[in-house]
Amino acid sequence: MRKVDTGVSEEQSIFRDALERLDLAASYIDISPEIVERLKHPKRTLMVSIPVRKDDGSLEVFRGYRVQYDDTRGPTKGGIRYHPQANLDEVKALAFWMTFKCAAVNIPFGGAKGGVEVDPKKLSRLEIERLSRGYIEAIAEFIGPDTDIPAPDVYTNEMIMGWMASQYNIIKRSNLPSVITGKPTTLGGSEGRAEATGRGGFYVAMELEKRLGLKPGESRVAVQGFGNAAYPFARLMAEEGYMIVAISDSQGAIYSDYGLDVEAIKRYKEETRNLEAVYFDSSVSESIREADHIHISNEELLELDVDLLVPAALENQINLENVHRIRAKNILELANGPVASDADAILFDRGIRVIPDILANAGGVVVSYFEWVQNRTGHYWTESAVNERLAAIVKREADIIYRKSEEKGVSLRTAACIVALERIRDAIASKGTYEFFKQSRI
Ligand code: NAD
Repeated sequence: MRKVDTGVSEEQSIFRDALERLDLAASYIDISPEIVERLKHPKRTLMVSIPVRKDDGSLEVFRGYRVQYDDTRGPTKGGIRYHPQANLDEVKALAFWMTFKCAAVNIPFGGAKGGVEVDPKKLSRLEIERLSRGYIEAIAEFIGPDTDIPAPDVYTNEMIMGWMASQYNIIKRSNLPSVITGKPTTLGGSEGRAEATGRGGFYVAMELEKRLGLKPGESRVAVQGFGNAAYPFARLMAEEGYMIVAISDSQGAIYSDYGLDVEAIKRYKEETRNLEAVYFDSSVSESIREADHIHISNEELLELDVDLLVPAALENQINLENVHRIRAKNILELANGPVASDADAILFDRGIRVIPDILANAGGVVVSYFEWVQNRTGHYWTESAVNERLAAIVKREADIIYRKSEEKGVSLRTAACIVALERIRDAIASKGTYEFFKQSRI
């Protein structure tokens, strides 16, 4: 049998890493071994090729993936990323984590993920539109409002979701906005979706504020990144009275002992960037040149002595190489997977609390769920109604997960996995497991 080249060696498998987390969570609860075994395999895996006509008339073929991991709790949900290193191992792992994220915040979805192996910065906007429509063409039978609902992820955005939803509607000869979330509001997107991830992270921090020893007016916060997830979080924390002492982007970081003016930095960044609908470039590290601050590197930002460190840019930022230099008291993972799994255990042993991504950045998927609900009912909510409902969900779940971590004496990440696994277990077990069927009579 020919082995499919997933572009990933066994050693670096993040999917295997995810399965180790599954085994760990399972070891704390009463769960049928067949449920654990079942959760080690994605329900459906699709690999597609997408031929795209380039602007110069030539044809390039891209490889794409869609993995629907588990749909016991509802239709599967998960973003689509465009990345040169997108590969099946990663998409499977991310689909696994979406299953756990939806369960951890108790929304009625399973988990999925999609990816296309492409460097979108090398394509024109028209080529990106053709690629996006081509990807939907390739997976159209696989997705749908009742089966699998994609959303944006790394290097995909609202406009791309609009193209994808439009292509799906062309294929189905219907208007089905609920097939994709993260659309522009003019095409059925939800109010509050753009800020939902940062806002959700903020509500989680507020719910756990006292338990994490955070205090407005006193506690210092460093934020890595200044994009869709990071900016609303930093702004809301600053409004609450927290001192945002450091912010960064891909160009570098700025630091001030007295706290940074988040709004002023945002305005500067908006004024000076090249106006791009698709990508967000230009640097915060240039933004307050004259003010009372110093430039530091992104590595230095991660190692600051702060009360709360918020990695909100990339995965694998805190790893075996730098974990011993981390001085933050708490870490809130707004990015997906910013703490590598081998560093995670060391942080726990050092008493540094990590609020895991499946809780901290779940605001995005919660408001995606609201978008789906609004599309299906045709009744649209105000931004304040969206924010209020988001707060209610993530605060309730943050409290449940925190209490689970105390009860079991485990990290918040393990607690979040346990809470999610208990919910998935209950859904699967309600259809019967070996323990039920081995007894022949009801
Ligand atoms: P984004 O593209 O809007 O922002 C990314 C930010 O990171 C930018 O400010 C960029 O300059 C910065 N950055 C890039 N490289 C960097 C580096 N080496 N050091 C420091 N900063 C760097 O992306 P986003 O939507 O904010 O996503 C960020 C993270 O949050 C990703 O891990 C994403 O998967 C996760 N996330 C986002 C959402 C969402 O709804 N936006 C939801 C869940 C998870």
